[in-house]
Amino acid sequence: MKDLSDLQSYNRVLVDITALAYNYRLLSSLMPEGIELLAMVKGDGYGHGMIESAKAFAKAGCVTFGVAELREGVLLREAGIEGAIFVMVGFIPDQVSHYFTSCLTPVVFSSEAIELLAQTALERDTTIDIHLKVDCGMSRLGVQPSEVGRFARLIESLPGVHLAGVVSHFPESDNVKSESTNKAYRTFETACQAIGGQVHVLNHIANSGAVLNFPETICDMGRAGIALYGYPPSTDPEDAVVGNKRLRPVMSFTTRVVMVKTVAAGTGISYGHTFVTERETKLAVLPVGYEDGYPRCLSNRGEVLIKGKRASILGRVCMNLCMVDITEIDGVEVGDEAVLLGSQGQETITADDIAGWAGTISYELLCMLGNNNQRVYTE
Ligand SMILES: *Cc1c(COP(=O)(O)O)cnc(C)c1O
Repeated sequence: MKDLSDLQSYNRVLVDITALAYNYRLLSSLMPEGIELLAMVKGDGYGHGMIESAKAFAKAGCVTFGVAELREGVLLREAGIEGAIFVMVGFIPDQVSHYFTSCLTPVVFSSEAIELLAQTALERDTTIDIHLKVDCGMSRLGVQPSEVGRFARLIESLPGVHLAGVVSHFPESDNVKSESTNKAYRTFETACQAIGGQVHVLNHIANSGAVLNFPETICDMGRAGIALYGYPPSTDPEDAVVGNKRLRPVMSFTTRVVMVKTVAAGTGISYGHTFVTERETKLAVLPVGYEDGYPRCLSNRGEVLIKGKRASILGRVCMNLCMVDITEIDGVEVGDEAVLLGSQGQETITADDIAGWAGTISYELLCMLGNNNQRVYTE
């Protein structure tokens, strides 16, 4: 394969490694004494690169990581990440050996998975720590709270597996006022009690929202994702304030102007002519489109920064291109930088801004941009 490392795309996702470490330390400072903060690096590190993000968190003191799939856990281990790696969404039976060969921590929610792990452990003459997932109101993965006692007894009865923890997840902890969060927490506490007085069982339920808004629910470990990447789980920028500090956004996304042109009043722009100019209009053409994870629903809605000023997207976002209005911005030339996410001059566009225009959340936007573009890491 040809080495294309010097053949860069116009479009670059910049990932600030220092900000990753900063956010990890800032959130860790919210943990009660001796309580760990697991770093969620699923979704290829929420678009920031799973391995690079995990390395940055590890440098900042992180020793526990979370991924969605077994495959991600194996890749993380292969990349040299030490410490515990939690696999959150289960496994396909014929892949079970990887938990042992890569030393990964299974989160389980079925008796079949528990029995298979136990049987495999016995065959390998070892034991494995497992965490039981309980559904406290998310209606996603997890056994019913009333079944926790039964599952704990099943795990206890099998020599190869050891119940090391009980896990749950909040559906609404991003909202400080949510009633379901306290309710889910009470359900979780009651479910955990059904296990009895085992000392080494680690209870954990707190995602970023809970760490920031409901610190009393942190229990034995926090599990943060989005906040480590610089955004609060809600869309309220004030929720990014931690004590007298602020979470730092990690990702920015830039491109370069590939063409500048002036069109007359009454000119239709892009597919479907959904925008027709009312005046003579100067356009910059940007080589960014939905193929790059820049949502098509930003058509006639989004803004970008050029020469430190805001330029509106005119007409539809195409697969690889979009047009922005630079009529009021002097001196724009081919090759000039355009910032789609991040700061330029005095102006800033946040992932929450773009997500707001697109009717989604920062989580999705970061994954889309980060996982569809060349990432460049900066310190
Ligand atoms: C994604 C995830 C988290 C982290 O959630 P954030 O809102 O990003 O902090 C924690 N726990 C589980 C089970 C998750 O899937």
